[in-house]
Amino acid sequence: MKNIGSCCCGGTVIEITDEPALNGICNCNNCKKRTGSAFGISAYFHQDKFQLLKNTTITYEFQGEHGKQVRHFCGKCGTTIFWYVEIFKGLVGVAGGCFTDNPLPLPTFNAMMENQYSWIKFSESMNKPLTAQDVENA
Ligand SMILES: [Zn+2]
Ligand SMILES: [Zn+2]
Repeated sequence: MKNIGSCCCGGTVIEITDEPALNGICNCNNCKKRTGSAFGISAYFHQDKFQLLKNTTITYEFQGEHGKQVRHFCGKCGTTIFWYVEIFKGLVGVAGGCFTDNPLPLPTFNAMMENQYSWIKFSESMNKPLTAQDVENA
């Protein structure tokens, strides 16, 4: 499967040629702030299936709960597009909302449920946290 993602201004365009290895949402405060929304959609792909076709990103590096993270966001429009997390070896995280032509399949994990807004109700099948085993198998 080939999927194209981009930022709001179109300055940065990515191409993915695989299904996500991990596909979920995250309710942590970092994702809330990153998106300005109730949760982030985080899809992780194998790095060799990821290509940067156009690039206007700048980076923000910080220590997160899963080690060092490097976030790439558009320097023109501010959209977060992709990131790398130290413990997610060989994977690149992509902000799921960047894919507007071919939306991602139903998420398979729901991280940081304890931090989820009380008014959000997901289907039963999504009430599954992300485990270390999921990351290991990705
Ligand atoms: Zn942009
Ligand atoms: Zn998060």
